[in-house]
Order: sequence, then C-alpha cells, then structure tokens
Amino acid sequence: SDALKQGAMQIVRRLCEAGFEAYLVGGCVRDEQLGRPVKDYDIATSAHPEQVQRLFERTVPTGLQHGTVTVVVGKKPYEVTTFRREGGYEAFRRPTEVEYIDSLTEDLQRRDFTMNAMAIDQNGRLIDPFDGMSDLERGVLRCVGRAEERFGEDALRMMRCLRFASEYGLIVEQATWDALNSGISLLRHIAMERIRAELERMLGGSDPNRALDLLTGSKALRHVKQELLLSGLDKETAWPPLSRLTEMEHRLAFIYIRLGAVPAEVEEDMIKLTFSRHQMETVKRIVAAHTALLSGLDRATGWAEEAYLRRIWISAALTYGVPALRALREIYLLENRPIRTEDIKVGEAADVWKRLGSVWLEQMPVSALAELAVGGKDLMGHLGVKGGPWTGRLLHRLLESAALAELRNDKETLLAAAREHYENMQEND
Ligand code: ATP
Ligand code: MG
Repeated sequence: SDALKQGAMQIVRRLCEAGFEAYLVGGCVRDEQLGRPVKDYDIATSAHPEQVQRLFERTVPTGLQHGTVTVVVGKKPYEVTTFRREGGYEAFRRPTEVEYIDSLTEDLQRRDFTMNAMAIDQNGRLIDPFDGMSDLERGVLRCVGRAEERFGEDALRMMRCLRFASEYGLIVEQATWDALNSGISLLRHIAMERIRAELERMLGGSDPNRALDLLTGSKALRHVKQELLLSGLDKETAWPPLSRLTEMEHRLAFIYIRLGAVPAEVEEDMIKLTFSRHQMETVKRIVAAHTALLSGLDRATGWAEEAYLRRIWISAALTYGVPALRALREIYLLENRPIRTEDIKVGEAADVWKRLGSVWLEQMPVSALAELAVGGKDLMGHLGVKGGPWTGRLLHRLLESAALAELRNDKETLLAAAREHYENMQEND
C-alpha cells in the first residue's frame, strides 16, 4: 500500500509541476484518515483529460465521458478525474451531463457524504470544506448539503448510506436519516445489480447485524424494483451474531432459513438480485439441505434416534455436498433452536447435528460417486444386465451404505451387495 500511495503522490506532483491543481480525493482520503487499508487512490485535477493523457506515458481512456483517465504508474492503475460539476440528474441515477470546472471545493461538493468529500494536497495537507473529519470523529455519517436533494439526485446514495453506516459503524445523522426515510421509495429506480452490490457488501462486511438493523429500520428492500423474499427480513427481530459465519453466502443462507424460504424461492430471489450463478447455487444447496433434513424428521415416526439423524445427515451430504452440510452446522450453531422454534423435535435434532455433524462428515469414507470402488459398467458386467434406471438408483444406494460405513468401499464387497439389492429390486417390481 505504501508503493501504491507513492505512485498516487507521484501523479499528483507531476500534475502540479505542469501548472495544474491535483489532489487525492474520496475513499482513499477517508480510509487513510481512519488508518484503514486503502484499496485504490483516486486523483482529482484541474487538468482536462487530453492534458492528463499528454502528461503521462501510460494512460487508458477509461471514462472520458465523465472526465476520467486511468494513469498507470509502476504497473498500478490510478483514476485521474477532471474537477467537475454534475448537470441535471436523470431517472434518479447518474448525471446527464458533466461540466468541467476549476474549483476543487465545487468538485467535492458533488460527492455524497462529508467523509467522502475530503482531499489531500501535494504536501499531504488535508482539505476538508464540509467537516468530514469532525463527522468521522463523532462517528456520524452525513450528506454533503441538503440530504433530500442529494438522495433525489441519485437514489443509489441511500444504499451507499446504509452500507457505509454499517461498515464503518457510524450513526446516520438525523437530517440524513429523515431524508433517507422519506426518499426511500426512489430506490425503485435503481438497477437490481447496484442494489445487490451494496447489499452484498453490507451482508459480507464486518457488521452484518448492523446492516440488518439498518435495512429493517429503513425498510429499503421493500422499495426496490422487484419484489423480494428478502424484503420480509424486517419482520424478524433479534438476529444472532451473523459475523460468526465467515462467508457472505452462509449469512444469506441463514437469513433465508430464518425467513422459511424453500430452495426454489431462494433461486428466484437471488436471480432477481443478479447474484452470480455460483453464489446462488451455494446458498440454495444449504437451504435445500436444511429442507431435506426437516422432511427427513417429518418422516421419522416418533422420536428420531441418533442413527436415524446420522443417516439423513449423511444422505443430505451426498445430495447437496459436504460443504453445504458444514455450513449448515455452523448455521445451527448460531442459535439454540434455529428453526421453527416451537418444534422441540427439530430443536433436539439440531442439537445432535451441532454436536456430531462435523465428526460424521469427517468420518465419511466416501462422499461422491466418483470415489466409489464400483461404477455403472462394473454393475452391468457383474450382473450381466443392460444399464437402465436401476443403475443410478443402485449406485446411489451403494454410495449411501459406503458413506455410512455399512459397507466397505471395495469392489468385491460392493458387487456382492449389488447382487443382493438387484435381486430384491426385481422381486419388488
Ligand atoms: P469504496 O471504494 O470503499 O466503495 P469509495 O468512497 O471509494 O468507497 P467509490 O464508489 O469508489 O466509493 O467512489 C469514490 C468517490 O466518488 C466516493 O468517495 C465519493 O466521493 C464519490 N462518489 C461515488 N459514488 C457517488 C455517488 N453515487 N454520489 C456522489 N458521490 C459519489
Ligand atoms: Mg473507491
């Protein structure tokens, strides 16, 4: 990060030597003041894009229409943006036109929050016309200027507000909070992708519970473009500490389980939110494993014995994957009776899974068909019959028995068991 900053300061000084003004601005100034790691340094300058391009050897015209040129120094890219004022705003998101200006202060004025509207000059001096530093010291998040106007110009700022408040542990200043609550319905103008990006950072961040409180308090998810199952999270109270789950996907799975979602609903919701296929599958598998365990419990007559709990646990691991079951155990560990709190049977079963679930997973001799000592061809050869629907079913039964360590995972044992199963299957047909 030291080299990163040096590169940024090099650019700032070079611009100043050429007679322009130039500063570090935005998130990097904020994070540096807080002693947080800085991901990227952004530079604002009075130089116009062509002038920036002429001044540096390696540049990329990444966003010329809003005055941004990427300058590459020491293999690191830096965004250099000309001071600008934003013209009218269209559809409650992004300005329709930008106008270059000479004044840093005016450039800072178009920024969303006071803590994001600070700059550092070539000598390392802080420039802070909107008292961002004193807000930060007081732990307050405040809009630059009139909050209603700022949220009206660009509704995404409301999601950013919730995200910054939760990630930085800030209290939203009263006027900003009031404006957010009265403007929240403007979120319907924001693309789901942008909503998801902020939501993902909130739930994946350092204080997901604070994020949930802010989402609940503002009812933000009730006002996005598409109706979501997640919108209902504001009806839930007293969330356990979600930060104990390290993955954003696991936190999300917990939330969906709490909301009583079934796998198909999770899929629909996460697709609406433009989560990646992979993220969606991860969450869905966990919820599906949970759903399968619950219906396994329903099928149990009377009290579920430990052996039965192990059987349905292992069977779920074979269907949804060992990682999903590990995640589910972590989810159950979050609270005593995670699901259907009135159901004692579920609570007791979850207690057993919390205690033994990961041991059982570790002890599984096989966890996928690929690890089984026999395949479809072996079965057909041994039994002397053509393949058919029976092959898959039989393989799965063998896998389950091997995973439960009822059968040794060797060819001879499995083929003998296969013959017996096959004959039973024939009799039952
Ligand atoms: P992070 O990178 O951690 O999300 P950041 O503050 O750097 O935080 P960016 O989206 O990288 O956020 O934006 C850089 C700067 O641009 C911000 O600090 C802020 O000054 C300004 N900015 C970004 N988005 C907006 C917006 N929607 N409205 C007004 N200003 C904005
Ligand atoms: Mg940034």
